[in-house]
Amino acid sequence: MRVRLPHNKHFRTRQCQQRYLSETAFQTPASLYSFSEEEKMMKETVARLAAEKIAPLVRKMEEESKIDPGVIELLFENGLMGIEVDTQYGGSGLNFFATILAVEEISKVDPPLSLLVEIQNSLVNALIKKIGTPEQKEKPLLVSKWSSSFCLSESHSGTDAFALKTVAVKDGSDYILNGSKMWISNSDVASLFLVMANAKPSAGYRGITCFIVERDMPGFSVGKKENKLGMRSSGTCMIHFDNVRVPESNILGEFGHGYKYTAGFLNESRIGIAAQMVGLAQGCFDATIPYTLERKQFGHPIYSFQSMQHQIAHIATQIECARLLVYNAARLVENGQPFCKGIFNGKILCIRDSRNCNSEMHRLDGWRWFHKRFPTGKVLQRL
Ligand SMILES: Cc1cc2nc3c(=O)[nH]c(=O)nc-3n(C[C@H](O)[C@H](O)[C@H](O)COP(=O)(O)OP(=O)(O)OC[C@H]3O[C@@H](n4cnc5c(N)ncnc54)[C@H](O)[C@@H]3O)c2cc1C
Repeated sequence: MRVRLPHNKHFRTRQCQQRYLSETAFQTPASLYSFSEEEKMMKETVARLAAEKIAPLVRKMEEESKIDPGVIELLFENGLMGIEVDTQYGGSGLNFFATILAVEEISKVDPPLSLLVEIQNSLVNALIKKIGTPEQKEKPLLVSKWSSSFCLSESHSGTDAFALKTVAVKDGSDYILNGSKMWISNSDVASLFLVMANAKPSAGYRGITCFIVERDMPGFSVGKKENKLGMRSSGTCMIHFDNVRVPESNILGEFGHGYKYTAGFLNESRIGIAAQMVGLAQGCFDATIPYTLERKQFGHPIYSFQSMQHQIAHIATQIECARLLVYNAARLVENGQPFCKGIFNGKILCIRDSRNCNSEMHRLDGWRWFHKRFPTGKVLQRL
């Protein structure tokens, strides 16, 4: 990058210019891999937890189509369900980048679990932190006990999300919610739901308002789990509102601004989904390389064949490119800079490369990828 030097007499000599440039360079992180102490600690702690405590349970969770309650407790105990929540509210008080690192590390062993962490941190907690009232922020259960879901999609409104039909009708100081949501991740285990409902249908999408709904509110129910091809341990259900009475104080942010919050925060959350793809591809890569060193054909480890090494180098490069796009987008968010173009490119690349990397890894893995017991095969189900 070309640095523009200040135009004044002190900067005329080369010596002054060089000093200025070296001072400026010192302030600029050397690379996207420059982590703060807290970020480093987050990455290492989550990597250790994932390898030691989560990985041994992944197969069981996948087969039972359910996240082990002990694993969710572990996430809370280690501050991973309130990463950016201020310490005064019991959270870890870290930054968005720390969330991205945590999501990436968990995804290396279990993407469905990282979806729980991603939605809790970069959608639910992030929205409450940014637009919640002090009373809403003080809800300690979200950092200590309660998982959460973000509820927007309905059977007929997916991409056209603001065509949603769930309504909220004012009744005294409450709102009465009616309707159904579909494809709601984590709703099998969540206790708190951020629900987009239209409280003024005559105003079109400008009536969409965000409500905080709790699982035990009368009239609220969770339907059966979708029988998905992949991400099976992540519970995805329909949820129903049958005259659910929600106090006005449970409106999150401003009345009729739900569409703005949705658009803004789903963009940030896309960085988390892209980080998930990077972690998934890296996990698959890490699981396959040792096998290529171990497995012998024609009297040599298959890793030693040059064509194998070309493929491995190509996959490693794809993963690295995707990761750098994700890290860059996360730093832009943190610095309040425009990030949408970066993350749209990033998400497309991460999803495509994650798929490519995994199918390439399947080739390197020989017959093993077709077996449920080995990570590459299971990874295919999680995309
Ligand atoms: C595993 C899983 C978990 C999910 N979790 C959640 C959750 O927690 N909360 C939640 O609210 N939702 C959730 N969703 C729903 C998800 O957000 C929707 O699937 C998504 O918004 C797309 O909607 P749709 O599937 O109805 O596709 P549709 O909107 O029906 O689209 C079908 C196809 O048409 C294309 N298309 C649509 N409109 C246009 C257009 N104008 N121009 C060009 N192409 C177009 C789409 O890109 C897509 O390829 C989840 C979905 C899945 C599969």
